[in-house]
Order: sequence, then C-alpha cells, then structure tokens
Amino acid sequence: MAFDVHDIREQFPILNQKVHGKPLVYFDNAATAQKPIAVIKAISDYYLNYNANVHRGVHTLSQRATDAMESVREQVRAHLNAAEAAEIIFTRGITDSINAIAYGLSNTVQKGQNVVITAMEHHSNIVPWQMLCERTGAELRHLPMDEHGELILDRLEVVIDQNTAIVAFNHISNTLGTINPVQKIISQAKKVGAWTLVDGAQSGPHTIVDVQSWDVDFFTLSSHKMYGPTGLGILYGKRERLEAIAPYQGGGEMISTVTLEKSTYAGLPHKFEAGTPHVEGIIGFGAALKFINEIGIESISAHEQSLLEYATKQCSGIKGFRVIGNSKNKASVLSFVIDGVHPYDLGVLLDQQGIAVRTGQHCTQPIMDAFCIEGTVRASFAMYNTFEEIDSFISGLKKAVSMLL
Ligand SMILES: *Cc1c(COP(=O)(O)O)cnc(C)c1O
Repeated sequence: MAFDVHDIREQFPILNQKVHGKPLVYFDNAATAQKPIAVIKAISDYYLNYNANVHRGVHTLSQRATDAMESVREQVRAHLNAAEAAEIIFTRGITDSINAIAYGLSNTVQKGQNVVITAMEHHSNIVPWQMLCERTGAELRHLPMDEHGELILDRLEVVIDQNTAIVAFNHISNTLGTINPVQKIISQAKKVGAWTLVDGAQSGPHTIVDVQSWDVDFFTLSSHKMYGPTGLGILYGKRERLEAIAPYQGGGEMISTVTLEKSTYAGLPHKFEAGTPHVEGIIGFGAALKFINEIGIESISAHEQSLLEYATKQCSGIKGFRVIGNSKNKASVLSFVIDGVHPYDLGVLLDQQGIAVRTGQHCTQPIMDAFCIEGTVRASFAMYNTFEEIDSFISGLKKAVSMLL
C-alpha cells in the first residue's frame, strides 16, 4: 500500500479543526498521539454490543469480551515477536509497568548491588528505581551522555559491572529523539549477568521491535503514544523472569486460591493483572496496532524522518535557534531553544496560531540540567503530519520570535 498522508489524515477527524481561527497543526505526538476512527469505532462497538466483565462469566457477552481481549494479547505477542502470549501483561501504562518490575525486585536486589539507568531517562524510568534503591540499599548509577545527546558508550564497561542487578533505559528519548544502541547495551548487561528493561514509549510508534532477537528481559509500551487509548500499557517479560518476581498488586483475577489466611497466585499473565482490566482500552489498542501495521511501520518512519530533516533544515535559519539533541540516529522529535526567549512564551504564541507543541522539561529534568537550560520547545511528528504543516510552524515560529526578541 502506498503511503498517502492525505488518506491517513481522513482517518483522524480531530485534525480537521481550527484553533484560534487557524487550522490545527498537532506537533505534540511524543506526549500523546491522536486516535484513528478505527480505534474509536472498536471502543464504541464494545460498549454498544458486547460490554461485559472478562474471564468471569459463562455468559455469551463475557465470552465475547474475553475473546476480544485475549486476541489482542496474541496480536501484541506477534507484534513484539515474544515467544508466548502469556509473556504479555496489560498494565496501566509505562509508568505502571516499570513500577511493577522495580517493586517486584524488592526482595531480590540487595545492598552492594547497583541499578543502572541513563542520563536521558523519563522520570518514570528514574523514580521507581530510586525507590527500589531506597528500599534495598542498592546504588543507582547512570550512563552519561555527551553534548549531542548521545550516550557515552566508552563508559558502558565501567558503569555496568559484576554487581549490576538490572539495566533500565529508553530505546528512544522523548526529549532528544536519540535512538539508543539497544543491542550494545543489552550485550554488556548480559556479559555480567544483569537483567535488562527497555522503555519503548517512543519506539512503539516509530520502529519495529523484536524482543527475542534483542534478548531483552522486559520491554514496555504505552498505548496512547501508539494511536491507542490512554490508561493502557504493555509489559513484556521473559517467562522465567516474570515467574521469578513477586506481583506488586494483589486482588481479584491474579490468584489461584484464596483463604482468609493465605493465597496462591495465578500463573502468567494473570499474576500481574489484579482487578478488572482496561477492556475497552485493550480492544482499542488492538485496533491501533492493526492500523499501524496496515500502513507499515517502515513507511511511517520514513515519512516522519523526512519531516524531521525538513523541519530541522528550515529552523536552522531562525535567529538564536539551537537544537537540543542532534545525535546521528534520531527519531522524529525536534527539541530546541531560542536564545533569549522562554520556551513557555513561544508555546503560547504558537498556540495562538493553531500550532500545538510541548514546552518545558518533558518529564526529563536531568536532561535540562545537563544542557543547563530551563526547558525546550518540542515539536514531535507522527504519520499524519505534513510538509505544509511544517511550513506553517516555521512561519509561526518566526512571527513569535519577532514578537519576543
Ligand atoms: C510517555 C513516556 C513514558 C510514560 O508513559 P505512560 O504510559 O504515559 O506512563 C515513559 N517513558 C518515555 C520515554 C515516554 O515518552
């Protein structure tokens, strides 16, 4: 199927509106992506025709809902090339997935061991590890980055050592766009017997992921960044790893037997799915995955890459413009500052021209500290964005800068 951005845009009716009298230009995709009609329809179909709780009833609607949910689990397995569907856990989001693992390791990680993250993590891949280290007395380390926003790989063998329990890092930085060398980092971790977790928030919508060829222990995705509903995350874990750690939430669905004194846990995946799952979200996410795969993730990423190159080139002439993050391998995230201008003021003036960007720290305060800036303006592109939108953005930006400087 040929990639036709105008056909794609028709699947996203929300894009066809005016904001402050100007056509909406939505460049905040790294925060959340818009949802195609197929996703909205799948959710309303569930509520209109077969809403019921899953795994509980013998009745027909409950079985339909359960079948729909379990077929998405299989779809996700295939999408990530996991060995079995039981290794796919439905969570509330990436934050929830990482907390589940960090909590689950509370009884295995010990004082004298260390946990390794990187200098470019989202807060959700920092704070849960700090909490784990506080509980256990383990040390938190990070792999540093350079002025381009690339990890300093020469430091890999120093930072990851015999005492490393787990290495947790993002595949693609939501702030810098940097695409990290996943396999290199995993292979150093394996050399010393450390476990690995990859935060795939930004890889999900832009790249192909193969958890078996990466040989990663845990991998996590966020539905809402992949054109699916909010409130749903995916946690992949190798069977033997998931079996080795404790569940962090107890309740219905996750048990095998319960007496008033003691309970035994259910097998995978249910051990990590306490309570009623986000059934509509799961069904909507299934539709989002199908939508992405029908267009093809390679075509999507090629389109986004040309948008990034074009936007970067067009911006470079603007007075005081400075890109934050110019790594060689980079996804469609353009973070920048204009010297002498506060990012927030730019964001407000862009919004008045119908252009939606994110401003601030993007949940990555340590990156801002490393670059000695307060925040950035971030334009992030998705499959439905166009070159004309970039032209509007550039002229909007020039206008804003001329008002502020
Ligand atoms: C958005 C994001 C998260 C948080 O994901 P949620 O599913 O919203 O909790 C984590 N890491 C990165 C890199 C992100 O972009």
